[in-house]
Amino acid sequence: MNIGKAAVLGAGTMGAGIAAHLANAGIPTLLLDIAPSVLTLDEEERGLTLESAAVRNRIVNSLFEASKKLKPAAFMLGKNARLISTGNFTDDISKIKECDFVVEAVVENLDIKHKIFAEVEKHRRPGAVVASNTSGIPIDSIAEPFSDDFKQHFLGIHFFNPPRYMKLVEIIPGRETSGEVACQIAGFLDRRLGKGVVPAKDRPNFIANRIGTFGMMVTVHEMFAMGFTPTEIDQITGKAIGHASSATFRTSDLVGLDVLVHVNRNLYPAVPDDEDRDVFQVPDIINQMLERKLLGDKTKGGFYKKTKNAEGKTEILELDLTTFEYKPQEKTRFPSLDAAKAIDDLPKRIKTLVWGNDRVAEFLWKTMSRTCRYAANRVPEIADTIVEIDNAIKWGFGWTIGVFESWDAIGVQESVDRMRREDQSVPENVEKMLASGATSFYKNENGHHFFYDLVAGEYKPVPERPGVLVLKSIKERTGVIKTNPGASLIDLGDGVACLEFHSKMNSIGGDTVQMMNFALDEVERNFRGLVVGNQGGNFSAGANIMMLLLAAQEEEWDDINMMVHALQNTVMRLRYSSKPVVTAPYGLTLGGGCEISMHGNRVRAAAETYMGQVEVGVGLIPAGCGTKEMTMRAMDAAANAPDADMLAFLKKTFELLGMGKVATSAQEAKDWGFLREIDSISMNGDRLIADAKQEVLNLDASGFVPPVERGDITVMGESGQAAVKLALHMMKRGGFISDHDELIGKKLANVMTGGAMNHRAEVSERYLLDLEREAFVSLCGERKTQERIAATLKTGKPLRN
Ligand code: NAD
Repeated sequence: MNIGKAAVLGAGTMGAGIAAHLANAGIPTLLLDIAPSVLTLDEEERGLTLESAAVRNRIVNSLFEASKKLKPAAFMLGKNARLISTGNFTDDISKIKECDFVVEAVVENLDIKHKIFAEVEKHRRPGAVVASNTSGIPIDSIAEPFSDDFKQHFLGIHFFNPPRYMKLVEIIPGRETSGEVACQIAGFLDRRLGKGVVPAKDRPNFIANRIGTFGMMVTVHEMFAMGFTPTEIDQITGKAIGHASSATFRTSDLVGLDVLVHVNRNLYPAVPDDEDRDVFQVPDIINQMLERKLLGDKTKGGFYKKTKNAEGKTEILELDLTTFEYKPQEKTRFPSLDAAKAIDDLPKRIKTLVWGNDRVAEFLWKTMSRTCRYAANRVPEIADTIVEIDNAIKWGFGWTIGVFESWDAIGVQESVDRMRREDQSVPENVEKMLASGATSFYKNENGHHFFYDLVAGEYKPVPERPGVLVLKSIKERTGVIKTNPGASLIDLGDGVACLEFHSKMNSIGGDTVQMMNFALDEVERNFRGLVVGNQGGNFSAGANIMMLLLAAQEEEWDDINMMVHALQNTVMRLRYSSKPVVTAPYGLTLGGGCEISMHGNRVRAAAETYMGQVEVGVGLIPAGCGTKEMTMRAMDAAANAPDADMLAFLKKTFELLGMGKVATSAQEAKDWGFLREIDSISMNGDRLIADAKQEVLNLDASGFVPPVERGDITVMGESGQAAVKLALHMMKRGGFISDHDELIGKKLANVMTGGAMNHRAEVSERYLLDLEREAFVSLCGERKTQERIAATLKTGKPLRN
């Protein structure tokens, strides 16, 4: 399906966010909202009328402007906003005839939606897909008044807030929706918008909100029943059990208690046959919070409130649910939670916590077992299989493992035995599953994953997502070519190998460098090319600075020099090896991780990649080829620009490295020069490894010839260096940077301008690498640099000294 142009109807929280994300995908988008029905005082004073052009789009324009300032940013690159044109429903609705895709996101009111869709029906182009982002109105009731053709092209597409960042999109075909349309739009949402698509049935609040809200409300009721405080519940229901760190009540504050209550009030009457529907009855205390407008962040106070204490430090207060007064937050020591922190393996941690014998265990058992039972009873009502329910809750609520995966962790047979002992009704489909001899919802056989189909009563393969390679499964199926604690080399098939980092935060140390060299040797001999990529939380947080600090404290300068030299040589090999290398960064890609990424013959980056050379934060400069590479790129760009102002290019790149700036998306990384024009982006991070593999195959098939090392990099010499040093001096005098910042800046400027050259000259990459290394080693000898490294290791935050 080719979606050349889109329209979003409604520019509120969701509409503006969806439009921004369509623009992120490069799709020109029309964004409409209502024309004002009353003038503002200012408009009256200016003699404007409701018919004035300046008034007609006031609402949509102010919502659109606000969306440009959202934090975290809705736009991956500021200039994507240029792809959005605004208008109002009265004057501009006919413009949707140019659009292939129309998404409605106006207020949750069936009459209003009907009115909007009646206009859409009049103006839509034949074949255009029309969707509603409703979270609770049945899709069929929205489609009901419209033509057959409309119905065939209409479906629910339920984005989560904020649309750029929340992975889940539920698609809800109506009774008449064409299967082809649903299928094509699912492909579009996955590939172009990078979403995790889950097909849902047209049942109240679909999958994620139905199960997620149930889980939250069970938690609320049980909190009251067992006498816990919201703070205690958040200690129990966050990271400890693999849920979002905002846990239960911080999440409520973020989303807004009004939204939560609205969903419950919608759900309760809509699900008269639910066996456990009373959970959706909002407790009186929550209703009182609503009346008192204690909604969360939007009213500057919900379950928690941020304030400044006497010393001006931010302090979190918690709401006392008996008095509705805020009081200092009191965290409770739960020995079982403390002990569980040591258990890295999440399923084991959940099992240990649930089967403990304290209040935490009792609480978790009650809430989790009840949510598990509820979810099992919803198959096939809301979804055909448990896989959709697990994906929806993971992608929409930020759980690390889904409901049924958690149930497996707790133990299905043991928990069903306990349910029986406690006179809880066990879902019939789960009874049948156990009776058939199956003891878990999922099983894994030689890297092949199966789920138990509760309807068919048998295990079926978890559907593979075409275009998605899962490294863990590949390793389970075929093993590894070689492995050490920091990295592994894996065979991706079709002649492509993958170098996977897997140390803590994927930091780069000696074993990573060793494996990189082994990988390149092996690929040069036996493969068509190499992907450098992994699937942890982040591509790489940078070099292992712990080892570096120890060496610096021991004054082992030769060792440090050798270490850096080895890294430089290895990174250079990535670019100049005889076989194509494609790097696949995603998430945090910092310092050494950024340098490695930049040296692929091509980079295939996930859209959500945060790249930067942040070495200055630890008192150093990039010396794993990063300063060389960015200097070379800046000088090349200057040479190719009309009226090349070399100094301007130099300063821009100097600023990136000198301030340790981190790009907030792959698009921004491209804008800044961490990625080149020839590098490409996968909107869907799940597809990254497969896409990178395909890049390797394309390079190989098109007759890959390795580039040769450069010896023709123009450097500015003293004139450039003097200009940068002057800027540094001014910044220091203005109090913007410290003495040590200035020292680091000078060393960086020295490398970037070619060292002690008194004129513009051409130098080689190796020459710049020698300068990089020299600066790096000398900075390691500075006390303030060592203090910065030590502080970062201790606190995780940079120290300004
Ligand atoms: P919102 O209140 O932020 O925006 C709604 C927009 O509708 C506003 O811009 C408003 O000007 C416009 N509007 C108001 N009256 C109108 C009328 N009579 N005719 C046409 N437009 C009118 O709401 P939202 O949170 O963006 O929700 C929009 C839709 O998305 C709803 O259906 C909601 O259920 C759904 N949704 C919301 C979320 C969420 O987290 N906020 C998540 C998923 C889905």
